[in-house]
Amino acid sequence: MKANIKVRCEICDSLSFEKVTKLRHSTIGFTSIPISICTQCGFVTVWPRLRDKDYKAINQMWYPKKFKKDPINLKDEDYKFKKWRKMWDIIEPFFKDKKLLKVLDIGSGQGWALEFLQKKFEYIEATAIEQWKPSQEYLMNKLGVEVIDKDIDSSWINDLNKKYDFVILRATLEHLKNPNLVIKQIQLSLDKGGLAYIMVPNVEYIGNQPVRTDFFRPVHLHYFSPETFKALCSKWGLFPIKSEFGSEMWGLFKSKKRKYITVSNYLKQKKLNDDALKKYKLVDDFNILKINLKSIYIKIRNLFINSDSL
Ligand SMILES: [Zn+2]
Repeated sequence: MKANIKVRCEICDSLSFEKVTKLRHSTIGFTSIPISICTQCGFVTVWPRLRDKDYKAINQMWYPKKFKKDPINLKDEDYKFKKWRKMWDIIEPFFKDKKLLKVLDIGSGQGWALEFLQKKFEYIEATAIEQWKPSQEYLMNKLGVEVIDKDIDSSWINDLNKKYDFVILRATLEHLKNPNLVIKQIQLSLDKGGLAYIMVPNVEYIGNQPVRTDFFRPVHLHYFSPETFKALCSKWGLFPIKSEFGSEMWGLFKSKKRKYITVSNYLKQKKLNDDALKKYKLVDDFNILKINLKSIYIKIRNLFINSDSL
């Protein structure tokens, strides 16, 4: 795996990046992924980027573990609807008088957001964009949801046959190669008066956990701050009518005229990054030692397995 694709900043279009660090994780062995900061706006992102096929390989290693942890058929509703109950607290005032909800869930995962909303509304017309096969089956057969079998990161707007009152993009934007394309399509998919709930992790909380081996992780391409998050959305005409900027930050967005916001967060974010890297230096060094040992062990074991099969 080699990171050498130099893309423009997703927020301000600049090509001027400065290295922050390289992330390491046991799922990707000795590979390291470069994290950089845009010196114009302060956007933290993977730069240069890996090739598409490398990302596919990383995702294939990561997601089966994630879905194994949270199996679709889980009965424990307290657990499976926990984050969607939080979302409901935010959106209820705007939708409580609605009998029919047209909802689009982008990257549904197990489909639990739609399952939860089905309990809240008399009628619901739900569409999910999801490629994980077991989830697709659950969404279609158990929940009666229309499934669009397309990569979220591609153009899917022409696959929709209606506009929506509510669009969900939760913990997904930070994974996407084309966040601009996806935000643009969300704006286009909203019906008049429709709202989009978008949630991402907040990079300003970088100082709360090991940095190189935990906060920065292989499946995340971008690390948004409140400013870069809002700038990206407003560029495509999405403005928050309600928002919160904790370690998980979210906005409930409505569509208005597009507006370009200049962000100059570089110095502030650089300091946050540097302080966090310093604070967790020893823990990160120790974690990297463990990752290296584990990777050596796996290499040796594979050598033996391969020689056995000869
Ligand atoms: Zn930038």
